[in-house]
Amino acid sequence: MAFQAVRGFKDVIYPESRLWDLLEERSKEIALSFGFEGIKTPVLENTEVFTRGIGQHTDIVEKEMYTFLDKNNESISLRPEATAGVIRAAIENKLFARKPVQKLFTIGQMFRHERPQKGRLRQFHQINAEVLGTASPIADAEIIALATTILQEFLDENKFKALRLEINSLGCPECRPNHKADLALYLTNNVENLCDDCKRRSETNPLRVFDCKKEGCKKVMQRAPLIKHYLCPGCAEHLGSVLDFLECYDIKFVQNPTLVRGLDYYTKTTFEIVSTSIGAAQSTIAAGGRYDGLISQMGGPDVSGVGMAIGIERLMLLITQDEEIPENKDFMFFVPLGSDSIEYLLPLSKKLREEGYNVKFSFDFKASLKSQLKNADREKARLVFIMGENEVNNKEIIIKDMLNHAQENVSLDNFIQRIRDLAENYNEEY
Ligand code: ATP
Ligand code: MG
Repeated sequence: MAFQAVRGFKDVIYPESRLWDLLEERSKEIALSFGFEGIKTPVLENTEVFTRGIGQHTDIVEKEMYTFLDKNNESISLRPEATAGVIRAAIENKLFARKPVQKLFTIGQMFRHERPQKGRLRQFHQINAEVLGTASPIADAEIIALATTILQEFLDENKFKALRLEINSLGCPECRPNHKADLALYLTNNVENLCDDCKRRSETNPLRVFDCKKEGCKKVMQRAPLIKHYLCPGCAEHLGSVLDFLECYDIKFVQNPTLVRGLDYYTKTTFEIVSTSIGAAQSTIAAGGRYDGLISQMGGPDVSGVGMAIGIERLMLLITQDEEIPENKDFMFFVPLGSDSIEYLLPLSKKLREEGYNVKFSFDFKASLKSQLKNADREKARLVFIMGENEVNNKEIIIKDMLNHAQENVSLDNFIQRIRDLAENYNEEY
């Protein structure tokens, strides 16, 4: 019987894994340039971290979370998103005592029991950033700028231009209740046209009906009262500032008055970055927003925060849509013919790696030259180093340039210097 990965869980194999690593490395560097510190939090948390953080009446908590009892009969959950865990960690590790404003960055897997499809998995990965401890609209703009900078780094010009930043404000505890009351009333009057989920949502969490993808509900919501008409002066001013600052960053946006998010904790700014060049079901590449009550609600100081998450699988889909993943860098390839040469070649391979070259070493020292060269070719090696019986006796190595079909013998003593010279030249050739 052959094993298969769990449904909705996927292996990342090369060449995608190579691109994936690059994505992680570069986005970390970019986050560093914005002054973020790295944080790694566990994939498992006590369930309450998420029910308290994300909200009981959200799709994520009600339907999508992997929750089970561990051997001590405690309810634990695989994290469906990063923010709640990061905030739990910031509070538990007393980060706010070190610095009132925390800029935290993390990359990792999230788990949601959704119906798997292209760009929608049960284990997926996010690039995640949170600014905790400030209500400043500069932080909102900065979080969005970080997301767009990372996306711009990996997308060609056309794909980047095909991204649309949608932004909205969800108000605050001062102005949101007025909207919520009117919305609930509106939904009650239109309840016969709502799906079963939304019938329930209209009582537990009416704002979430805006997020329903069913046609009937969408139609009802076209005439629903919009939060933008209810924003208090503080929220309106905040939104205005965020939009101004985005312009300072030269970031284009559209306001979407029906944009709400799948998590309860958002207040004020909420945003999504959507690609218009990819199917609607996986078009949201990144999303985030401000959460003013969440940190105190989770037992921390009464400060606010703002964050974003980029879906790595979605970004990968977009990058590889019609592009080849670039080849790995050139390798040098050692070919020992027989066992006597190995003691000379292994130390040289070590030395070349220490000098920063990419080096592979043939495992098949008992195989013929022809078969090992074929292997070197398959590995796309540019320079091949061969040592057989004759070369062992003469203390020399054959250097073969697979591209130019040139070949030369060098003494063991001169080998490293000769490679430095050759590598320098062939770097110039490209
Ligand atoms: P969607 O509306 O597509 O379900 P969401 O609003 O649930 O997305 P968020 O919770 O905001 O998503 O997560 C941020 C990002 O993480 C999304 O924009 C997306 O890129 C990615 N993401 C979310 N769920 C999945 C999933 N099941 N598989 C792959 N990526 C996902
Ligand atoms: Mg979702």
